[in-house]
Amino acid sequence: MINEKSEQIYKEAVEYIPGGVNSPVRAFKSVGLSPIFVDHAHGSKIYDVDGNEYIDYICSWGPLMLGHSPKELSEGIEEVIKKGTSYGVPTQIEVDMAKIIVEAYPAIDQVRMVNSGTEATMSALRVARGYTGRNKILKFEGCYHGHSDSLLVQSGSGTITYGVPTSPGVPDDVVKHTLVCKYNDLDAVREIFKEEGNEIAAVIVETISGNMGLVKGKQEFIELLREVCTEYGAVLIFDEVITGFRLSYNSSPAYFGVNPDMVCFGKIIGAGLPVGAYGGKKEIMSVVSPIGPVYQAGTLSGNPLAMYMGKKNLEILRDNPQIYTELERKAKKLEDGINTNLEKLDLDYTVTRAGSLVCLFFAKGPIENYDDAKKCDIEKFNKYFAQLLKRGILIGPSQYEAMFLSNAHTDEDIEKTIAANYEALKVAHNL
Ligand SMILES: *Cc1c(COP(=O)(O)O)cnc(C)c1O
Repeated sequence: MINEKSEQIYKEAVEYIPGGVNSPVRAFKSVGLSPIFVDHAHGSKIYDVDGNEYIDYICSWGPLMLGHSPKELSEGIEEVIKKGTSYGVPTQIEVDMAKIIVEAYPAIDQVRMVNSGTEATMSALRVARGYTGRNKILKFEGCYHGHSDSLLVQSGSGTITYGVPTSPGVPDDVVKHTLVCKYNDLDAVREIFKEEGNEIAAVIVETISGNMGLVKGKQEFIELLREVCTEYGAVLIFDEVITGFRLSYNSSPAYFGVNPDMVCFGKIIGAGLPVGAYGGKKEIMSVVSPIGPVYQAGTLSGNPLAMYMGKKNLEILRDNPQIYTELERKAKKLEDGINTNLEKLDLDYTVTRAGSLVCLFFAKGPIENYDDAKKCDIEKFNKYFAQLLKRGILIGPSQYEAMFLSNAHTDEDIEKTIAANYEALKVAHNL
């Protein structure tokens, strides 16, 4: 694999951009490599500036349900650009987009567009706090909800754990209202609510977490969250920035049969353009400015280009349910193939899958929370990652990321990936 040009750009990049990248995981630092720089991408493939081709399982970290640069989405975008790229006054397409999201998600009546997942969760929490008049929030270890201050926490010591900042620059004072529990820990949730339930404004959760590898919320866990939130009058927020419109068109409520009070979207609803959204029941959303007192705004929110792409993406997904069936089938094929490889190589590792999200943990299962995920053999994973890359397979450069499939991935791609997975595992373990 030649990567001269990537190396050259990277050298320049680190001069002008911290770490050479605009989002940390792109630096390939956790796998001890330098990043590839992309020239273009099409369908299931990414092509770097050195001309290397990769089957891509990052898919921009989830948004690209139809693969890279699908014609169906870009068609007509020139016309949109010619009409203007942002107005600062409202447009019809924002209404259309809100309607599509609300119709797909019976738990919510209204939705507000923002520009990223981070903005969506940050705003949803503010609204939940404004609505309940309470300060405390509960999050779960290993779930990622963007990089806003009050969510950059890990659990401290003690049974009822208050968050401690995971990043310098986040004052203790800011996270003192953030409670942290182990994911899938029903007893901890019951205990925290018994002690502090009347002060908790919101519980924010990834129903299926794609940010500690891929760890599924247990059915009983998600149901318990619904129960305690109802009992104590806390707002249940599903962070569906990864899972929304990816698990299925009706997302987590269809998967678990549980409705949240609020929901956050991102990634998929923008189809690769910068978009996020948060929504909820009318009663809750009525506290949002300009009808209510809770302030939240955005100069570029509901941007016409983003709305155009996002709306088309959602319409295609809505009108072609076979996309989800096919994604499920292909992801299952990949899951089965990796499991067969693990058996052949006698490796006691764990594959998790939910819809089109797949993850290979370099650890024995079951993987139910962040502590379990942390047991992975990172050194072996890093070797495996490099071996895959060499064989033209691009996965997230970290053990704690899922593989994302798109509808552009073919059976041939999956078969090549399974074969490369076997070889890469073999080399990484000197077998
Ligand atoms: C990616 C992600 C976010 C943050 O979204 P950004 O658009 O990167 O700000 C929030 N929550 C979850 C579950 C995510 O996966």
